[in-house]
Amino acid sequence: MRRTGRWLGLGLFAILLAGMDDPPPAPKAPARSTRAAKKAVRRDRDAPPPCQSTSRVAARPPARTMPDLFDRMMENFSKDPARGFSGFLDELANMEGPALEGVTLTIAEERQAGLKARAEYLEKAAARGYKVVNDPKKLDYLKALVARFSDRMGHRDRYPNIEVTLIDAPIPDGQSFPGGFLAFTTALLDEPDEATVAGVVAHELAHLDRGHLYGYARRSKLAEATYRNPPGGEMNFDQFFTRQAALMGLMMNPYRPEHESEADCTSATWLYQEGYDPRALVGFFERMHRRNNDQPDNPFFAFGRTHPFSLDRRREVLNRLAQLQRWKRRDDLGLYAENLRKLEPRLKE
Ligand SMILES: [Zn+2]
Repeated sequence: MRRTGRWLGLGLFAILLAGMDDPPPAPKAPARSTRAAKKAVRRDRDAPPPCQSTSRVAARPPARTMPDLFDRMMENFSKDPARGFSGFLDELANMEGPALEGVTLTIAEERQAGLKARAEYLEKAAARGYKVVNDPKKLDYLKALVARFSDRMGHRDRYPNIEVTLIDAPIPDGQSFPGGFLAFTTALLDEPDEATVAGVVAHELAHLDRGHLYGYARRSKLAEATYRNPPGGEMNFDQFFTRQAALMGLMMNPYRPEHESEADCTSATWLYQEGYDPRALVGFFERMHRRNNDQPDNPFFAFGRTHPFSLDRRREVLNRLAQLQRWKRRDDLGLYAENLRKLEPRLKE
């Protein structure tokens, strides 16, 4: 009897947590002309329309037990054999929520995780011949853009010191790590204009600001805790299983298109607010698409990893730009090619 009560209690607790953890159901239609969007505009005329997070993950609550996950897997395969596996990956990604409940990091812990991730990245880069370069003029230029766009961050207080590293590599790219560490390639500065470089800088800062990197650090902490304390004691089998499945999902599917969409949307918004033309990103995605068609994928570069999506991302940026123009029309957006050529960042008005 006591036992049953305890399990019942645990079950209720799980349901409660599931309820708390679930994001509010996403609206079906684009928010363009909905009442909600109008209300948001009324609430704050100076705030741009929010970036809708376009999660691929199904709106239903995540599986919490092994039989549940298997049922869903079979269901996915019978519904659509071709997409069954990716549906299964979505289910695994969906399980992260419950597995990460209660996992938090202090700022110091997050910076520690970021330093470790950056060290691994720089080591891998060096092994491919992409060395860290100390070019003060280029670094100062990037830092000025980082300073400009980090003022737009909602969580600027958590990340007062953002470090920038430059690596000598032939593909334009940016990378961000938990705690406020960014890396860019020298080839990024060979892009046609400052708006493009600013777009990549803003995209990386958006990952930091939207908590994508914090999420990564939480998953690493969870992985460490799981391997240090195998099941038994406090954790029941289903809890352990949920963790394992979430970690497996992370390993099999570390790349999150919904995070890229959100970072692109935020980047386009910040560019717009700072007077840069977000169409710079459109050109960047087109060049990326062409480059990836000409050459085999180079999985090392973060932007290159998005290869199959680069044209989708281009379309999303154009849609966002149209939405921003409806919000607050601007005719003064620029690309600022000359500023990049001279490595003299455009001044704030
Ligand atoms: Zn990204």
